[in-house]
Amino acid sequence: MSDVTVVGLGPMGSKMAETFLAAGHAVKVWNRTASKADPLVAQGAVRAASAADGELLVVSQISYQAMYDSLGEARLDGKVVVNLSSGSPDELREAARWVAGRGGTLITAGIMVPPPGIGQPGAYSFYSGPQDVLDRHRATLEALGGVTYVGADHGLAMMYYQALLLIFWTSLTSHMHAMAMLGSAGVSALEFLPFARELFTQLGGDGPMGYAKILAEEVAAGVYPGGENSLHMQAVSLGHALEALTQAGVETTVPEALLRLFERADAEGRGEEGLGTVIESIKKP
Ligand code: NDP
Repeated sequence: MSDVTVVGLGPMGSKMAETFLAAGHAVKVWNRTASKADPLVAQGAVRAASAADGELLVVSQISYQAMYDSLGEARLDGKVVVNLSSGSPDELREAARWVAGRGGTLITAGIMVPPPGIGQPGAYSFYSGPQDVLDRHRATLEALGGVTYVGADHGLAMMYYQALLLIFWTSLTSHMHAMAMLGSAGVSALEFLPFARELFTQLGGDGPMGYAKILAEEVAAGVYPGGENSLHMQAVSLGHALEALTQAGVETTVPEALLRLFERADAEGRGEEGLGTVIESIKKP
């Protein structure tokens, strides 16, 4: 089993190090606050002499700035840095140039599970950068979960990651608005849960409510047939939902922004098209 150095021992990096150890790898660990390495050393990891001590550096820190701070002036000749931290796509592209300037190769990644999910069935990460380099380390990285390569552009792994997080945050925040509104009328979150779950399931399915697929097909084709569900009708309906939230005494920042987006598409003359036409407004702020 190959060697790996885990840099950054927050909740994610610590679990990654444990997972590599459990898979039989020789693991070195490094963290700015050195004491966080202690439990891992007790499990068989070796304290790295520096953040650059190793040939395969797996980084999980709060930001890309943390990687710069940790590696400092170290040379990275021949080393592969796999960074699974959060950042913006341009930051990742800049980081690839920074690592290359020190003689190393950067693979960027977005990991799609929280700490307890690392290495568990269903876990996976998006990776971008040079595919041949990723392939050399694929077997090692698979200890963390599935390896999903999305392209040479270093920003792409983070864009896929953020694309899914946008869906995660907005859909779950809408669920919170729904629970708060119903809660104001004495309906418990658990009473409402079966309906919310059913909608989440249907949205991802193939039936008439399978909007994840319907929208993707419409967006791919650039055509948004309104049929019996025009955007205009939905904008009016969203206005009613906003009134309902206000009457319930619930805050409305996000639904108000949504209504502005719908109304803009309507005002631009696309009210008779379907919901999908909103993407044309999203693409042109
Ligand atoms: P944090 O995002 O809180 O990161 C903590 C780590 O960053 C610690 O090792 C900390 O070191 C280090 N760090 C912070 N600033 C610096 C610095 N200037 N120089 C060196 N090291 C620094 O913890 P997580 O483990 O939760 O997350 C790690 C990454 O994983 C983040 O980018 C996060 O977005 C991503 N992620 C997290 C998920 C989660 O559920 N937690 C899920 C998917 C991705 P020290 O101990 O010294 O403070």
